[in-house]
Amino acid sequence: MKDYMIRGTDKERNFRFFGANTKHMVGTACDKHQTTPVVSAALGRTMTGAAMMSRMLKRDSDRVSIIIKGDGPIGGIIVEADGTGNVKGYPYHAQVDIPNKPNGKLDVSGAIGNAVMTVIKDLGLKEPYTGQVAMLSGEIAEDLTFYFATSEQTNSVVILGVLVDVDYSIKEAGGIIIQVLPNAKDEAISALEDKLKSFESLTEYLDEGKSIEDMIGMLLDEVDIMEETEIEFRCDCSRHRMERGLISIGKKELEEIMQEEENIELVCHFCNEKYQFSQDEIREIVKSL
Ligand SMILES: [Zn+2]
Repeated sequence: MKDYMIRGTDKERNFRFFGANTKHMVGTACDKHQTTPVVSAALGRTMTGAAMMSRMLKRDSDRVSIIIKGDGPIGGIIVEADGTGNVKGYPYHAQVDIPNKPNGKLDVSGAIGNAVMTVIKDLGLKEPYTGQVAMLSGEIAEDLTFYFATSEQTNSVVILGVLVDVDYSIKEAGGIIIQVLPNAKDEAISALEDKLKSFESLTEYLDEGKSIEDMIGMLLDEVDIMEETEIEFRCDCSRHRMERGLISIGKKELEEIMQEEENIELVCHFCNEKYQFSQDEIREIVKSL
């Protein structure tokens, strides 16, 4: 089964929701970056959150980025998603090994440390929209809830989960965002709060064979799914883009590099794809400047 996202509302339109099953997307990212379990959880949660936030964008060409910078051993995480369900991301440090929390869970907040989360939405306007919050929790879902409340004035429930298997593969991954709509009834909000108290673990439910739709059904009454879309890990890097990157270094620097190196290898941060440029190719680029 491919990864997919759904969005919709409850029948009474008290809430809108987004749900995503992201096992393969997170698996591909963790494979490309060779992440240890705590990094897989941190990266996977951030990618799943960004994937759902991309469904809040209006146009396919709009983009949302989540940038986390912290003083923990991961250092930071950068994730980008576009309006068509393509998501890419990378951690600054992929090999982080810290003890689990006393409750046996991966210590994502410990790996991230004191951090700031920045959300950038490129909506094709002159200036991108930017919102920033201090990460009080560091577990990512709670931090996104805080971001929505402070930067977008929207009360939200954000649930993100990544279950890493003993062989470091991704066993389950997914997420749910439920947002309170402007005319929501108070009773509906308290009913959701009650249901959240008995909602245990998204990844455990997935592992038991429940779907994201089942879980949204556990939290909301009479759900209306308006859209289902595919999502995947996909990087839009290319040789042409890398060439543009080289050009931006400037003629003088490129000439210097040419003297010192026989060829240059550029690596895409997001997907680890390698691009080689020979001395002759760099000479051509310099000539074209
Ligand atoms: Zn790439």
